Amino acid sequence: MSKRDFYEILGVPKNASDEEIKKAYRKLAMKHHPDRNQGDAAKPAEEKFKEAKEAYEMLSDPQKRAAYDQYGHAGVDPNMRGPGGAGAEGFGGFAEAFGDIFGDMFGQQGGRGRGAGGRQVYRGSDLSYAMEITLEEAARGKDAQIRIPSWDTCDTCHGSGAKPGTSAKTCGTCQGAGTVQMRQGFFSVQQTCPHCRGTGKIIPEPCTTCHGQGKLKKQKTLEVKIPAGIDDGMRIRSTGNGEPGTNGGPPGDLYIEIRLKKHDIFERDGDDLHCQVPVSFITAALGGEIEVPTLQGKAAIDIPEGTQAGKQFRLRGKGIKGVRASYPGDLYCHIAVETPVKLTEHQRKLLRELEDSLKKGGARHSPSGESWTDRLKNFFS
Ligand SMILES: [Zn+2]
Ligand SMILES: [Zn+2]
Repeated sequence: MSKRDFYEILGVPKNASDEEIKKAYRKLAMKHHPDRNQGDAAKPAEEKFKEAKEAYEMLSDPQKRAAYDQYGHAGVDPNMRGPGGAGAEGFGGFAEAFGDIFGDMFGQQGGRGRGAGGRQVYRGSDLSYAMEITLEEAARGKDAQIRIPSWDTCDTCHGSGAKPGTSAKTCGTCQGAGTVQMRQGFFSVQQTCPHCRGTGKIIPEPCTTCHGQGKLKKQKTLEVKIPAGIDDGMRIRSTGNGEPGTNGGPPGDLYIEIRLKKHDIFERDGDDLHCQVPVSFITAALGGEIEVPTLQGKAAIDIPEGTQAGKQFRLRGKGIKGVRASYPGDLYCHIAVETPVKLTEHQRKLLRELEDSLKKGGARHSPSGESWTDRLKNFFS
C-alpha cells in the first residue's frame, strides 16, 4: 500500500511551522469528524480523519518529523523499525496534542490518542532529570556529569525474560499479535493487548534475575553540556537516553530541567540582573563613588549628590547573555539608603544640629516633602 505524503495530506509546505501544522490538522479533523459525517459519508470521512490524524501525529513530533523528512515513511512507520519508528502509544506526541485539541470534543475517546494500524513496537518513556545550578554556572555554561538509569540485557536469560530451560508462549488473548480490536462508536481501534501488554508473548516461568523483564536497570554517567545563558525552567534534551523501547522500539529521550539556585546578591530577570546596594545616607546626600558587584568582579559607579532611596543605576551589558541572545542583558543596582544605628550622644547631637539647619532651609532640602504635605492635606480634608 503506497502512502500519501504527510505534508500533502495536511496541505502544508515542507517548511511549515508547528502552528501551521496544528491549524491545518484542526481544520481537516473538524471537516472529517465522525459527528459531522453520517450515513454514506461516514466511511470515507473516517478514512480521511485517520489519515490526517496520522500525518499530524508524525509532523507535530520534532523527532518523528525529522525522521520522516530524512527517511520518508520508512523513518516513522513502526512496522518498518526504521530510525525514529515510534508507535503512537509513546510518550507525549500524539496523545498529548490530540487531547489538547480535541479533549472537549471527544470526551473520553479523544484522550486515548491511538494511531491507526497495529502497534507492537513502543518507544520508551521519556525521563526527566532536575539539575540545580548556580547563577554563575548558568551565566558561563558548564560541563556536567550526571548519573542516569540505563538498562542492560539480562545475562541469565539473554533478554528473553524466561527462566533458563523454559520459554515464552504465544499470548492466548491476542494470538501473539500484541493488539486486540475494540469498537468505540464509529471507530474500530486496535488496542494494546492488556494480557501481554503488546509483546504477544506470555512468560509462564519468569527469569528470577530480571523478573521477566529481560533487562536490568543500571546506572551510567552522562556528560551534559549546559549552554551559557541557560535560565531556570529550561530543558535540555538528550536524545535516546530515556527508557528503552519495547519490542525493538526506539528509546525515549532524557530531559534535563534546569533549576537556578537562589543567589546571595543577584536576582535574575530574563537576561537582566538586579541587586540591592546599601549606601550610607551621607554618601546618598553628598554623592560619591560606590563599589558594586558584577558577575565579572567589582565595578565602581558614581552616584550624584542627593541620590534617593530606590534609585536604580544601570550597568549596560553586565547582565547575562541568554542562550539565543546576541547581546548580554544589563545589571540594575538599586540604591538602598541606610539609616545609621547605635549612635553615640555626640552623633545624636550632630544630627539634631543638622536637622535644625535643614529646617531653616524649608522644603527645598526635601524633594518630595512639599507634594507629600499637599497630598496629606487633600487626604484628610
Ligand atoms: Zn533475565
Ligand atoms: Zn496478548
